[in-house]
Order: sequence, then structure tokens, then C-alpha cells
Amino acid sequence: MPEGDTVWNTARVLERALVGDVLTGSDFRVPRLATAGLTGWTVAESASRGKHLLLRLTRDGEKPLTLHSHLRMDGAWRAYAPGERWSGRPAHLIRVVLRTARSVAVGYHLHEVTLVPTADEETLVGHLGPDLLGDDWDPAEAARRIAARPGATIAEALLDQRNLAGVGNLYKAETMFLRGLWPWTPIAEVPDLDGVVTLAQKLVASNKGRWTQSTTGSLRRGQTTYVYGRRAQPCRRCGAAIRKAEQDERVTYWCPRCQPRPASG
Ligand SMILES: [Zn+2]
Repeated sequence: MPEGDTVWNTARVLERALVGDVLTGSDFRVPRLATAGLTGWTVAESASRGKHLLLRLTRDGEKPLTLHSHLRMDGAWRAYAPGERWSGRPAHLIRVVLRTARSVAVGYHLHEVTLVPTADEETLVGHLGPDLLGDDWDPAEAARRIAARPGATIAEALLDQRNLAGVGNLYKAETMFLRGLWPWTPIAEVPDLDGVVTLAQKLVASNKGRWTQSTTGSLRRGQTTYVYGRRAQPCRRCGAAIRKAEQDERVTYWCPRCQPRPASG
């Protein structure tokens, strides 16, 4: 499932495939952009902001444009050589095709596909908190935003992209485990929020540039996480059975011994 590092990696795929080249064709299979055409536009930059992808385009005499897309749970971009078989996903999931002389980028099951003036990008991503993988990552600001809603649980706060942008369910669960935090702990009772967001950033950043996500340091199958995806398996630290539950329409995983419910005072 896409987390900040997946989206960052995807931006690099599009960068290698498209940046610096002129589009020789485009095909939008989303109703609102059915008539849009980007032939003749140059792909100037491929960026990510949290879980949002921003492909910036320029053309002489025109205001720069940004093609925005969001992967949510199931979206993906793949790059192919011209003439290569598109092996990524079933064809009915294709939403966008962009062609240059040297490659074809195909966007599958993309969400929120929009084309806006680059000057208006903030209308799409301006609400996001500090980007975990951005040059402007700011842990103090992320902690400040979390602290501003003291009644939220730590699990909610880590997933809320307005606080910090780029944490998904996997890094949420792993961060809470490594900090010994029960997922339903109210923010007001979480010590050292700076330490929490700093750790979340380190976990995401450590997986930049590869598709296997590991928080344990191991890339071996079945050993890449402490709690995420490990329901009923023994905790790697204490041996207790890892638990799984619904929380705010998402699942969460935790170790009942390493992440005890705080004794409320
Ligand atoms: Zn444990």
C-alpha cells in the first residue's frame, strides 16, 4: 500500500522516464480530462508531496501546468519503452498515458487526476503538513500541529496528512510499536511528540529508493516489520501475540505487552 516512500519512488520512476523530454502524445481516460491534450508540452519536473504526485509541464508562451495524481491504496505509475508490452495491470484500470520519444508512462487506477496551473498547486497540497521526504521537513512543526488536537489518538494523528505528510498504515503501526505507544493513547498523554515524528520520518526515509518496506533492518520476507501484518504472531521483542483491530476504519497492529494501555491518572 502506498506510503510516502512509495510515492517518492514513483516520482523518481516518472522523472527517469519523462523529465527533460517533450510529450509526443497523451491519453486521459478520466471523464473530466477526456479532451485534455498535452502533446508538445515538456515535462520539467516530477515531484512528490506526501502521497501526492506532481508532474510539472512547460511550453513556450503558456503558463506552466501541473498534472496531479494520487495513488491512494491501489494506484501505480509504470514506465515502458516504446513498443514494450504494458504488463503492469489490466487495461481497464488505465487512467493516463503519456508518451515521449523514448518512453511511455502509464498511470493505473489513479485518483484525483487533475490538471492545474502550477501556480495553483497549493490548492491541491497546501493543506498538507511537513513532508517527511521533503527538503523542508520540519519535525517541530509536525509536532506542533499534532499537539494542536490533544484529543486525537496517536494513531489518528500520525495518519492525518495535515499534521505530517507521508505516513500510511504500515509506518503508523511500526512507529507506535518502536515508541511503546498504545494506539488509542490521546495526544495529550504522548510524551516527546518530537521524538515520535522524528522516528516516523527516519523509518520512511530509510526505505527511499527501494520497493520493499522494512522497519526492522531485514529485507527477508516475513521479517520486515515488528507488528504490521503480523496478527497473532509472536512479538519480536517479548513474544506476546501481536494484536490487530479496527481503528477509525483502518486496521492497526500492536503488541499488548510492549505497548500497554497507559494507566490514566
Ligand atoms: Zn512485545
